[in-house]
Amino acid sequence: MTEHTPFATGGCACGAVRYAMMDQPYAVNCCHCTDCQREGGSAFAVNAAIETPLLQMTGAEPVAIHLASASGAGQTVMRCPRCQTALFSHYGALGAKAAFVRAGTLDNPALCPPTAHIWTASKLPWVALDPAIPAFAAFYAGRDIPALLGERGAERLRTLRKG
Ligand SMILES: [Zn+2]
Ligand SMILES: [Zn+2]
Repeated sequence: MTEHTPFATGGCACGAVRYAMMDQPYAVNCCHCTDCQREGGSAFAVNAAIETPLLQMTGAEPVAIHLASASGAGQTVMRCPRCQTALFSHYGALGAKAAFVRAGTLDNPALCPPTAHIWTASKLPWVALDPAIPAFAAFYAGRDIPALLGERGAERLRTLRKG
């Protein structure tokens, strides 16, 4: 992959907002919290985490909606101003430094398989999880990160937390 070739592209339902992920996500969290269930109208959210500067936006400027999150730190959901598709969120302590892209908005969502299932305490009973994917009743702890994210992913997250 060259510097200028996106890892993946995506956009909203109406096409007004398009984006390119310039690297692979450092983590992909399937979040089964009740906030994600309600906000997405679905069983869980698939959030592909990337450094915000590596998420290159084109087209209309997304609008920011502030909402609660299971961690208590809150989230800012970025939506298309026209069709209101939720494209990505900023969460918690990382704030605007990291973007959690809704993987369903990718042109090819299969590019971002899950790293982990989180907040499975509120997972819907009819959702069967692949036992090969680590699952956590709430969020994973710092000690889990190297095994989950790999050396490079853990380093990217460390850099984000420092910055
Ligand atoms: Zn749109
Ligand atoms: Zn959630």
